[in-house]
Amino acid sequence: MADFEKAYKAIMTFEGNNHRQEMEDTNILLCSDCFRDEGLKIDAFKIGIDNKDKCPKCNSTNGHKLTKGLAKDLCYRFFVRGTILKQKYGGAPLIQFNQQHFNKTDIDVSPWLVDDVKLIEQAGEIGMFYYGPRFWMLGEVEPLKSLQNESKRNEIIEKILTTYPIRELTDKEYFYRIRVNPKISHDFSEYDSAPDEFLGKNRFDDIDFPVLYGSPDLELCLHECRTTVEDNLFVAKLVPTHKLKVLDFSALLDEENVTEFESIDIAIHFLFLAGKHSYNICRQIALKAKEKGFDGIIYPSYFSYIRTGAFPFETIYGISIRRIPQLKDYAQSQSIPNLALFGRPVNEKKVTVECINKIIINRVGYDITFGPAYHKAYEEESDEQDIK
Ligand SMILES: [Zn+2]
Repeated sequence: MADFEKAYKAIMTFEGNNHRQEMEDTNILLCSDCFRDEGLKIDAFKIGIDNKDKCPKCNSTNGHKLTKGLAKDLCYRFFVRGTILKQKYGGAPLIQFNQQHFNKTDIDVSPWLVDDVKLIEQAGEIGMFYYGPRFWMLGEVEPLKSLQNESKRNEIIEKILTTYPIRELTDKEYFYRIRVNPKISHDFSEYDSAPDEFLGKNRFDDIDFPVLYGSPDLELCLHECRTTVEDNLFVAKLVPTHKLKVLDFSALLDEENVTEFESIDIAIHFLFLAGKHSYNICRQIALKAKEKGFDGIIYPSYFSYIRTGAFPFETIYGISIRRIPQLKDYAQSQSIPNLALFGRPVNEKKVTVECINKIIINRVGYDITFGPAYHKAYEEESDEQDIK
């Protein structure tokens, strides 16, 4: 473990030095108007320096200017983050870049991107290449494979339930529950778990297993409910009436002395970022947790990355940022906790409705970045996209 930590420290110092050098680098090399690709142009405008100086490449005074460091940032946003392919579990970017590949860029791009790639390569002194991800990034994680295997599932669930921290929720921990077009908006029972006829459709609930979903993050609730501006929306603030014992799956496990391939932390992280095909596993975890006397589960939202704008499955030199001690807080801040309470907690008087409001959506904003359009060389890899 000591060597492991030393390696991480070396990486972080290296990254830190690199970063510092680039902070000192104020030499303007090109600007957003130099690019032909529209997405790249907009991304460059967003991160570039806003001044009226003449661009040394294209003479534009309106483009936002890029230094070597900013050219690399742009490359990361557009070509790395912009090519993340989500797999059944996990995911990884298709393209990476580094200094070692300078002048050796080897990727197929659309015709309008060819010159732009050369500009970024020269400004950043980098080269781009197709990335061969480590297999754990694509879901080759032993505990995750055991969860998908029915004969091994029980055993691994038992282990998972004893691995994650237990938390007690008190009346200080309120959360929100949204209702779309409720029949009687002021009726408290509208804000309990869904009625029987709607059970078995979401992550943890099943026929005869109602679950109340909520989150302390109101905007996240709106995402989760897939609301539209036409909906009649109401929100209840719910508060526990007494201490509730819950398992916290949003916690980051940092005491594992194993690689990513054996990590329960990575397995659970990927499980909750996976779509409907993962619900069966989640339901069995919930059922077992209830049998063990838990009132519910805290879990990271499927929409965490949409909410925080963070980069899903982020790695440094092929190591998950979840496993780098210095980045633990950063990784933790990317996951937004949701709450699932078993049964019908409002009816059972485990939680109480403290307040109900109508919600009016006045404006919806999008925070977007761009990536290259799929080109023929990697089209076949993209057809197993997992859309929830
Ligand atoms: Zn320019």
